[in-house]
Amino acid sequence: MPERAGGKLRGRMLSPKPLSKWIVGSFAGKIRPSTLPHLFTYQEVYEGDLYHRPVRATLRVIHRLIWRVLSRSRAQGSALVTGLLKGCLDNGCSISTNARVVELIKDNETGRIVGLVADMNGTRKHLRGNVGVVIASGGFEWNREMLNEHFPGKLDWLGSPRGNEGDGQRMVSNVGGALAHMDQANVYPAIPTRYEGKLHGLPMIFQAEKHAIVVNRSGKRFASEYDFNIGVAVDQRDRKAGQPEHLPAWVIADSRLLKDAPPLGWYSRNDPNWMVRASTLHELATKIGVPAEALAETVARFNGFCADGRDRDFHRGESAWEQFKAGGANSALGPIDRPPYLAAPFNRSILGTKGGARTNMAGQVVRADGGVIPGLYAAGLSMANPIGTLAVGPGTTIGPNLTWGFICGEALLSETVARREQLAVHA
Ligand SMILES: Cc1cc2nc3c(=O)[nH]c(=O)nc-3n(C[C@H](O)[C@H](O)[C@H](O)COP(=O)(O)OP(=O)(O)OC[C@H]3O[C@@H](n4cnc5c(N)ncnc54)[C@H](O)[C@@H]3O)c2cc1C
Repeated sequence: MPERAGGKLRGRMLSPKPLSKWIVGSFAGKIRPSTLPHLFTYQEVYEGDLYHRPVRATLRVIHRLIWRVLSRSRAQGSALVTGLLKGCLDNGCSISTNARVVELIKDNETGRIVGLVADMNGTRKHLRGNVGVVIASGGFEWNREMLNEHFPGKLDWLGSPRGNEGDGQRMVSNVGGALAHMDQANVYPAIPTRYEGKLHGLPMIFQAEKHAIVVNRSGKRFASEYDFNIGVAVDQRDRKAGQPEHLPAWVIADSRLLKDAPPLGWYSRNDPNWMVRASTLHELATKIGVPAEALAETVARFNGFCADGRDRDFHRGESAWEQFKAGGANSALGPIDRPPYLAAPFNRSILGTKGGARTNMAGQVVRADGGVIPGLYAAGLSMANPIGTLAVGPGTTIGPNLTWGFICGEALLSETVARREQLAVHA
């Protein structure tokens, strides 16, 4: 946000360097693959413009990619998880897989959370926690009932692994913890991919293309397509009914979209119904159920902005971020006038919900009356995210989520030290 007071044109992007899975020994096979192979670092993705020039970007670093395949090294999120796992193993953590936590154990006398019940490889086990339990079980996007309750209306894709079913939120609520921000999420553009044998969402900012716009169910634009907070606009709700105001929404583009962004053509084959094509705008509007006249007007208005070099409605391509995204000043605007015309759904795709346990500044879970539930902490997407759906920059979820994990860790350590001191006094 360079335009804000104190903002800078350039910031720091922190993203892991490639790391070999061999460093975690027998756990290497347990690291879940990503929807993308993660052979490229983020820097290489951006510097080579992998999305628009996949062949050129690959050839630039082909020697590195070959080495990464041979050494089982991966970058981005895969490297992050490998590094976190290695840190845990080196510090003596015991890690169990195939272990679903189903219940928290509360000491009825003190109200303290003293352990949990887990289904581990088909066996139910009771585990005691010496100091406390940290809930870090992610969002509830794969829990259909909870999703329908908190995100009524059109949804497109879910991008996270299917295990995130809101168990943490349910367990917190069962022991009296307050839940908040349940209608907030990481709402991010996504396209269809296949993951673990099923159709799945792949996050991709595919709407921010020169010859494309996003329109709502009335055929009107409602945000700058290049805004990294477009998820907030897409999820805008009617205050009274709580229903989304713009959905169903659509990306409308001309034939240049697929030439400019080749991966979009490859991925759209995963779901043949996903992208709609028509030889006229009128036919396209009829196919997707948007008022044809309104769509024609919107496209004509946008094409006029392209001729003038200025988007008078949403200032697309004017902020520093949007210029960066477009590859330069005046590069974000291109007319939509070359058939065939294309439409793809642009409803909410969710990478992770952001509602959950209300916590205090030490990560301790609190009740509705503000009192702390002793021994219970929450971090990441299972806690009520302070900024909710809003992003403060592109990719601003892992950082805060890791930080909350760190805060919980520090608080647990302080509790441990305090307890030891208490015991020493008693002795
Ligand atoms: C495809 C994709 C790309 C993303 N890219 C970025 C990015 O570039 N930058 C960024 O900042 N953010 C990104 N995000 C968001 C980021 O990954 C999440 O915000 C972050 O992983 C959330 O961390 P978490 O630990 O809270 O939850 P998760 O990472 O979701 O971890 C929760 C874990 O808990 C497990 N679990 C659930 N229920 C139980 C239970 N009952 N018992 C035991 N275990 C359980 C789950 O299986 C899961 O492993 C992306 C998300 C996706 C899906």
